[in-house]
Amino acid sequence: MRREQRTTPQRSVALVFLAASLAALTACVPGTDGGDSDQASGFPEDDIEVIVPFAAGGPTDTVTRMIGEPMGESLGVQIVVQNVEGAGGTVAAGQAATAAPDGYTMLMHHIGMSTAPALYDDLPYDPLTDFETVGLVTEVPMTIIARKDFEPNTLEELVAYVEANQDTVTLAHAGVGSASNLCGLLLQDAIGVTLQEVPYDGTGPALADLVGGQVDFMCDQTTNTTGQITGGEVKAYAVTTPERVESLPDLPTTTEAGLPDLQVSVWHGLYVPAGTPEDVIAVLTEALQTALADQGVIDQMADLGTAPVDADQATPEAHRALLEEQIGVWGDIIGASQGG
Ligand code: ASP
Repeated sequence: MRREQRTTPQRSVALVFLAASLAALTACVPGTDGGDSDQASGFPEDDIEVIVPFAAGGPTDTVTRMIGEPMGESLGVQIVVQNVEGAGGTVAAGQAATAAPDGYTMLMHHIGMSTAPALYDDLPYDPLTDFETVGLVTEVPMTIIARKDFEPNTLEELVAYVEANQDTVTLAHAGVGSASNLCGLLLQDAIGVTLQEVPYDGTGPALADLVGGQVDFMCDQTTNTTGQITGGEVKAYAVTTPERVESLPDLPTTTEAGLPDLQVSVWHGLYVPAGTPEDVIAVLTEALQTALADQGVIDQMADLGTAPVDADQATPEAHRALLEEQIGVWGDIIGASQGG
């Protein structure tokens, strides 16, 4: 029944209307608490889908699968990952925005939720009004990496090389609005060049092409690049955070390596469509917090250069506050970089 609701919009609207009317009636009956509590008491009764806006095997997908298992265990259902690729994550966010607001469809997104409004004139959703926040998940450093036979050996050499070869150097990313695109824009701005960009559906496939030598360099989260860096399959220049990353202790920061303005931390958060009942969100937030406290998750994240956020950040309030702040910050930076 629930699955039918989500694939037949008219029926869905009718059922939502019916549910809303019943809830309103219940609220009017003395001695009942009305509202959403009945709905949440049985939630979830079925598997929950998490839409991931990039290709399988990439960093956003990896983090989602990492927390999906313990979240599912604590909820007693499966968390099913659906990769919806395209347009730097905006196709997936558009799809999630119009899903039934019943808690059975979540979206895992990252910093791109706050950069897309400045990068797209025709964004098919509003990050602040079309979604409810469930909680932050993790904040991941980015690395600047290249195919292993790319000429420059340090960030300083990379800067000089791209300045001299800007017509031929290729920069991979996961589409306009992705974190790798943002990092690439900041890098080009810092150097003062315009490079030939090669967009992919995610940095999973982009990294595969980088290792294969089809593109020259890119930025990507440590959750995707750590193994390739330590395995010597790519060349790494710097990490884009103020501090070095424990799992990659030899990799200098961008500040140490001479590009202090290139700072990006890729924060991830879980969303549900606007209108999802508060007590359903509370159930999801609790499961998220349980997953983030799981020692297996903590260890896997540490191996990949990151950590779960503190429990007080894995809340709808902290997540919304960061989203609002970041939309402002990146709107200004991207606007200035585009001459606006
Ligand atoms: N790391 C990616 C980005 O650049 C996306 C992905 O997870 O594949 O946004």
